[in-house]
Amino acid sequence: MTAPALQRLIPTFKARTLAWWLAVENAMPGGRGRRSLWVALIALVMAVLVTLVWLAGRYEASQLQAELERDTANAVSDLRTQLSRHVQALQGLQSSLPSEAFWSLEAQALLRENRDMLRIEWRDTTLNLKQSADSTLRSPVFERVRRTETLSETQQACQRAQRSSGPNYSRSYYLPQTDGLGIEVMDMCLPNTQGGVLLGYTVVTYGLQELLGARLGESFGRRNEISFTEPDGTRLAISGTQSRGLRVFTAQQLVDLPGNTLVLRMDGRRGEPDLFPNVLTALVTGMSIALVTVMVLLAKDSRRRLKAENDLAEALAFRKAMEDSLVTGLRARDLEGRITYVNPAFCQMVGLTSEQLTGKLAPMPYWPPEMVDEYKQRQAIRLAGNAPPREGFESVFMRADGTRFEVLIIEAPLISGQGQQTGWMGAVIDISEQRRIEELSRASQERLQATARLATVGEMASLLSHELNQPLAAIASYANGSLNLLKDPAAVPQTLDDVHMALRRIAEQAGRAGKVINSVHDFVRRRDQAREAVAPVALLDAIAPLVNLQARKLQVKVHTRIDPKLPPVLCDRTMVEQVLLNLARNGMQAMDQPGSNERVLVLQVRRAASNAEHGWVEFSVSDVGVGIGEDVAGQLFTPFFTTKAEGMGLGLSLCRTVVEQHGGHLSFEPLTPRGTVFRFTLPAVLLDKITA
Ligand code: ADP
Repeated sequence: MTAPALQRLIPTFKARTLAWWLAVENAMPGGRGRRSLWVALIALVMAVLVTLVWLAGRYEASQLQAELERDTANAVSDLRTQLSRHVQALQGLQSSLPSEAFWSLEAQALLRENRDMLRIEWRDTTLNLKQSADSTLRSPVFERVRRTETLSETQQACQRAQRSSGPNYSRSYYLPQTDGLGIEVMDMCLPNTQGGVLLGYTVVTYGLQELLGARLGESFGRRNEISFTEPDGTRLAISGTQSRGLRVFTAQQLVDLPGNTLVLRMDGRRGEPDLFPNVLTALVTGMSIALVTVMVLLAKDSRRRLKAENDLAEALAFRKAMEDSLVTGLRARDLEGRITYVNPAFCQMVGLTSEQLTGKLAPMPYWPPEMVDEYKQRQAIRLAGNAPPREGFESVFMRADGTRFEVLIIEAPLISGQGQQTGWMGAVIDISEQRRIEELSRASQERLQATARLATVGEMASLLSHELNQPLAAIASYANGSLNLLKDPAAVPQTLDDVHMALRRIAEQAGRAGKVINSVHDFVRRRDQAREAVAPVALLDAIAPLVNLQARKLQVKVHTRIDPKLPPVLCDRTMVEQVLLNLARNGMQAMDQPGSNERVLVLQVRRAASNAEHGWVEFSVSDVGVGIGEDVAGQLFTPFFTTKAEGMGLGLSLCRTVVEQHGGHLSFEPLTPRGTVFRFTLPAVLLDKITA
């Protein structure tokens, strides 16, 4: 990856790091301690990574610099070797004392072999040119500028060479060329001495550019830019091209030649090392990326865990709140019947703490002692695998203070996540209050019925007095007659017989009066609510005296039709009698209209007609009265609805309640041409059931 690419990446990376950090931050509600630990860890990892990358880069840079220094030193050494070889070759040429023609040939050969030599001159001791040869590989260097104009540097070099009896190099100088460009050249002057006598000089003109290109270019020019510079940095010749990076590695080395010192400068073609310059750095970077990735994954994982923990805690808190706010008691038991869990509502119900209940085996502390045996049996049945009824069962529990209360228990198998039954879970509802309310309502219903009965009796009081008048008057007249007979002192046996007869009549009439009073008494007396099997005829007989009382007053004929072989009905006798009496009374009152001559009330009992009601007995009371208009029909069973001046409006509503309590059904329909029939059903006690 290159540096600019990295630079472009950095803002993105920063933004991502920030986003990731914020995510980590959010995911850590666990307080400052944990957060600062994460900060420290991330900072540490980042610092280590940056340091590693930086160190790897620096190491790489130092390697490059050292390599360049080495190259430069090698180049200088190569150059020196080359130059000294040249000197040797030239000395060889001199020592052979050549003829001019031979020299020329040799010089040409040398020039061909060494591209850096541009020209070789043979000069005499006074530096006059005897012979010269120019390189054929390029145009002669002294074409544009005459050689004599540049000779001063050469002369100085030769003087120094003569003094040192060895090769000497002139300072480099610029030589304009015919092509408009110019080259930097340097002369080397080699004195030719034979036996201590100076015979002349050999002067070689080196092109600095060629020196670099021919000698060093091949080995070093590909990787570096090589140049000769002056000590102040001015470039004299340059070889190789350079791609410039941000930073260029540079090495310089002095080429110390006799008479001249050149500076060889090498600029590394490679700039600043890339961010991933070599395997080491790439490895470190790769590992760092892996490390950061692992950290990110870890942070994500920890965030997921935290979220899961939070969700779980929330779900638990919700469950706890739900259990705590439940009014239904919850109780879990394992397969051995040991209590494993109770909720606060259950504890409150039985007045014991969760600690006092959990882990307990039968008998439970909330079982009334007198029920322990029964409950143990029940539990044994349950533990044997018999599921309780889905709708639950009723039971009695005991509070810590010893009071009993009724509960409804709905129990179901407790199935674990693996689908195995681990016990039983029971919902326990305290129904004592419900029972109390039911009892209250039943009592008030009874009181209402008693009131209705009393009202009926009040209504009948006048009829009663009329009915009792007759037997009482008869008793009085029989008693008076008897007294008169007994007053006669000469009583004869005939008279005694008469007295006997009169007393019998008195007894009869008294019995009749007593019956009337008893029937009223029976009716009014409040009896225990008990259902019993009663023959339908007995029900009608019981109300007959009271019905007849009113019938006589209203001049109504009462017909009773009872099917033969009717089964007894299961009912609360008093209640059903009152229903019959109410219906009969309503029917008679409906016929009490001036001008209606036929007043017949029919009381009928038969088996219920429909199949659906097989096993039911139907009672009906029909009249030929005014009938029931539509406006009245809608409110007939509404309590306190009445059309009568002295009516209470409770009769029919009570009738329906009573019939429905028995499981039966009360209805009415009009009769043609006039009148109404009221029907109700009661369950029959089938004979086979009775015998069973
Ligand atoms: P009460 O007899 O005290 O008025 P009930 O509930 O017995 O109260 O009757 C309510 C009303 O229904 C009566 O006032 C009457 O108008 C009407 N009713 C009941 N039975 C008959 C009947 N057989 N024929 C006509 N109307 C009736």
